[in-house]
Amino acid sequence: MIKVNDNFRILPESYLFSEVAARLRHFKEAHPEANVIRMDIGDVTRPLVPAAVEAMTEAVKEMSVSETFRGYGPEQGYPFLREPIARIDYQERGIDISADEIFISDGAKSDLGNLGDIFGPGLKVAVADPSYPAYVDANVIDGRGGTLEEGRWSDLIYLDCLPENDFKPSLPKERPDVIILCYPNNPTGASITKAELQEWIDYARREGSLIIYDSAYEAYVTDPSTVRSVYEAEGAKEVAIEVRSFSKTAGFTGMRCGYTVVPEALKGRFADGSEVSLRKLWNRRQCTKFNGASYIVQRGAAALYTEEGRRQVRESVAYYMENAHAIRKALREAGFEVTGGVDSPYVWARRADEPDSWALFGRLLSEAALSCTPGSGFGTLGQGYIRFTGFNSAENTAEAMSRLRKLFSATVETAE
Ligand SMILES: *Cc1c(COP(=O)(O)O)cnc(C)c1O
Repeated sequence: MIKVNDNFRILPESYLFSEVAARLRHFKEAHPEANVIRMDIGDVTRPLVPAAVEAMTEAVKEMSVSETFRGYGPEQGYPFLREPIARIDYQERGIDISADEIFISDGAKSDLGNLGDIFGPGLKVAVADPSYPAYVDANVIDGRGGTLEEGRWSDLIYLDCLPENDFKPSLPKERPDVIILCYPNNPTGASITKAELQEWIDYARREGSLIIYDSAYEAYVTDPSTVRSVYEAEGAKEVAIEVRSFSKTAGFTGMRCGYTVVPEALKGRFADGSEVSLRKLWNRRQCTKFNGASYIVQRGAAALYTEEGRRQVRESVAYYMENAHAIRKALREAGFEVTGGVDSPYVWARRADEPDSWALFGRLLSEAALSCTPGSGFGTLGQGYIRFTGFNSAENTAEAMSRLRKLFSATVETAE
């Protein structure tokens, strides 16, 4: 038999979202009459924006005739998409990023994992606790985890996100080679100001660390003082890679498209000491292991940069944000301690009388037929928290919040 990657053996079996799904299935089997409302959805529910649908329909037609048919495209993505990204997402916001520093992907998750291909051996990686589970798991699969001890990997450096620091960690005590940051944050909903981001960039420049900045929720930023791109900080182009996605903004979770920015100024070092551009390495990696995102999907993504497309994306984001605001308000009124839901579709909450995430999850499910995501699944410091998302419909969100108010009205009255 073939020898396999032993890191899969040490990777814990239960993936957070499948465990939630399994518990929901059991509950529905036992209570077929219950109308469970999913407030745990990490997926969008609104259909694709019309501008993208039109562009993709056109693209399908092109593919059906020999004159306009397209086979393999550029591994880096088509210029018709890379150029508007560079212009609209960066240059028009005063950030000097060029189209050839942008690599179109089949989504942020792939690139967040694949970036490990360009790292040398034995690198120390810092992740936030709590964080999006794929950061940790991908690094464990690549052998950078060490051993799992009480919920934490021995070789990873954890950045504690607590209410005391507004879920924005302080700089690490031990120097990491790679720092993974995500703002606006999933799961806490925390966002970051330019001054706060600048501290991370200055640290990375001082220490020679690389920052991988996941800004999958950039479109949800509403506060003008919140950062949208890592490159808003001075000197970030020398130390940061930015990973973005069309998933949560334009309904592309099933279409698969995102992009990664690897600035030319970003350098690495081979074992012999010689310097190399990370952009060049990433390009080489992509050309070898990736044959480009679908032409049709890239046409759809490009349509998001037209005036009409931009308006539709804003509308979609506003719809989810209205849900997030309603969730935030209802949880507060029901006696929860609440954060997030301002620059992010995620609301992060806990209550003093329920210190265990899975127990609180179980209570909401059995007593109100509501599902949420237990915060402990995002890291040890998520214990006690639950995550709600604004991705359900406005109607379902309203019904869910009314159930929540009812369930906790007794507790709130006693507390007052
Ligand atoms: C959803 C999500 C992703 C994955 O995005 P895809 O482009 O669909 O792969 C990446 N990062 C965070 C924080 C997410 O929430």
